[in-house]
Amino acid sequence: MRLEGKVAIITGGASGIGLATVKKFVREGAKVLIADINLAQAEAAVAEIDALGFPGATAAGQVNVSIYKEVEAVVALAVKTFGKLDIIFNNAGIAGGKPLLDHDPEVDYMPMIRVDQDGVYYGILAAGRQFRDQGTGGVIISTSSIYGEQAAELAFSYSAAKAAVISFTRSAAYELAEYGVRAVAITPGRVGTPIINQFSDELKTLFASEQMRNKLTLPEEIADTVAFLASDEANAINGTVVHVDDGYSAF
Ligand code: NAD
Repeated sequence: MRLEGKVAIITGGASGIGLATVKKFVREGAKVLIADINLAQAEAAVAEIDALGFPGATAAGQVNVSIYKEVEAVVALAVKTFGKLDIIFNNAGIAGGKPLLDHDPEVDYMPMIRVDQDGVYYGILAAGRQFRDQGTGGVIISTSSIYGEQAAELAFSYSAAKAAVISFTRSAAYELAEYGVRAVAITPGRVGTPIINQFSDELKTLFASEQMRNKLTLPEEIADTVAFLASDEANAINGTVVHVDDGYSAF
């Protein structure tokens, strides 16, 4: 088991990529705090994982990642519940967009920046402080997107926030190396989760056609990559971006 004895926080852990990663981490031996704005869904995830045969391996915490004090509190909750923190997966996010010239900045720009950008910064800051104080090192994995590296239709704000995630990852790796902390960003392509499932079948078919296997990536496939990156097997991977996009970025 790759993550035996490790303690992790997974933000956005109640759904999609986050939930698949919670399940994978638990199977790999980790304890996980499922940190989500939707507490009821996080609690349902805990019950589901208990029933899968891992009672006590997870706990639920409510957090709005765009509020620093709440992120700090959820780090404290993980330490109180499981004794320490080894891994944070900054994964909570929202998507959506409009043509730039139709933007109302308060509606179409700031919310995306507050959740997808500030939320990752706060996770890095709060977990980084905990790792320093523990003196044990740690791993920070953050969810960017293929859109963090390219312009895309209706994605002006989302792309900006996801590009910042890549920048934060490089800088965090640089600044926190002296504390034994690694930082890695992932760029998923089109993954079959509620964020994508809100779109029409026509659009989902188009999304699938943009990947080499002509299908949406499974959240479990992203989770497999995150578990590897969080493990000691990935100790030489630091300050970089791992593309989990089924070849999207090679087209
Ligand atoms: P999802 O909607 O299934 O999961 C997102 C989770 O984040 C939900 O549980 C939601 O409650 C939570 N959340 C939203 N706002 C929050 C906040 N302010 N504080 C705490 N939790 C909050 O979607 P997903 O596809 O699993 O998305 C996970 C991450 O992957 C996001 O960062 C998304 O941008 C990114 N991503 C997804 C895709 C894709 O195709 N699905 C592609 C690239 C990147």
